[in-house]
Amino acid sequence: MNYWRIPLADVDIGISEKEAVMAVLDKGWLSMGEVTQAFEQEFAAFIGVRHAFAVSNGTVALHMACLAAEVGPGDEVIVPSLTFVATANAVAYTGATPVFADVSSPQDLTISPTSIAAHITPRTKAIIVMHYGGYPCWMEDILKLAERHGLTVIEDDAHAPGAELIGRRMGNWGLVGCFSFFSNKNMTTGEGGMLTTNNDHIAEKLGWLRSHGMTTLTWDRHRGHAWSYDVVAPGYNYRMDEIRAALGRVQLKKLEANNSHRKALVAQYTHMLRTVIPEVEIPFIGHPGESAYHLMVILLPAAINRVHFMEGMKIFGIQTSVHYPPVHHFSYYRKWLAEQTRALSVTEDAANRVVSLPLFAKMSSGDVEEVTAAIRKVLDKLSNEELR
Ligand SMILES: *Cc1c(COP(=O)(O)O)cnc(C)c1O
Repeated sequence: MNYWRIPLADVDIGISEKEAVMAVLDKGWLSMGEVTQAFEQEFAAFIGVRHAFAVSNGTVALHMACLAAEVGPGDEVIVPSLTFVATANAVAYTGATPVFADVSSPQDLTISPTSIAAHITPRTKAIIVMHYGGYPCWMEDILKLAERHGLTVIEDDAHAPGAELIGRRMGNWGLVGCFSFFSNKNMTTGEGGMLTTNNDHIAEKLGWLRSHGMTTLTWDRHRGHAWSYDVVAPGYNYRMDEIRAALGRVQLKKLEANNSHRKALVAQYTHMLRTVIPEVEIPFIGHPGESAYHLMVILLPAAINRVHFMEGMKIFGIQTSVHYPPVHHFSYYRKWLAEQTRALSVTEDAANRVVSLPLFAKMSSGDVEEVTAAIRKVLDKLSNEELR
């Protein structure tokens, strides 16, 4: 189903996913069970962590991570504003206050360690980092800062499955990593998410939080491993099911190859844009570590009207997007946190000029050429109109 000649994102679903889903249906156990367990073990091994918990989506993963880190009323949690709103909403669910930090520069749209430091108060409990576009945040600096102030670091890894920094995968840096398998992400289960941690105590809490605060699972009782349970906290039903887990196992197997293909597309985009459209800025050139290449973003020249640019691309059948409208500009957060007056000047400048171009596993190099040619035409048209 494509409304666009070239969409912003697209899934890579084939025969293996169909077979995996059919096998679950044939077996007849649909709620969390051995397929989910296998998916968790494979995901934990891939990230290089001791524990992984499959959940219903990335947002609940962030919620559980905050709860496991004992974030609650009266606490402050430092988050980027240039992120999907779920990063901040998860903090709000717990009764804590999100405190927005700036990103580093137009070339580096990850959260700035300097800005984090400037926002630490006696009430700060945790920092949530988000590896924007799949590019790693400055984790060594951020972990040092967190250690010095006794803060917990939670990773929003929604963009970053497979990304790494000095040989260590994202999701294996903070106390907890939170992944999303929404359908526009690098790997998908439709809706879905995963938590990762090396901390046994946190892992125990994540197990209860995911399933009503109960100490045994329906699956354990079904297998005769338990017949009763206690409830140790008012937990949630944030579980994944076997159909999604089956999808996820196949998607995980494809992830490295798909990320490499994304990397090649980004390299081609970068080369073509630099030669054909030198007036656009391309962030993350030479960024440390290995990205998961979730997004291909450019910054338009300040004189270009972005709405007109995106409409121009639409005429060519090319979908573009904005990652992201800054969270601190949304009316709920503006009203609630009006006293957070410190300017986020880099975020605001970048958010005004940023445009995401199509990037997905099944995209071809011909598509990249077509997008680049369209950008050239649209920018020429817009500049001519302005001169008239
Ligand atoms: C997609 C995404 C989420 C939320 O994940 P869902 O699975 O859609 O709930 C959170 N943070 C970021 C940065 C995302 O891109």
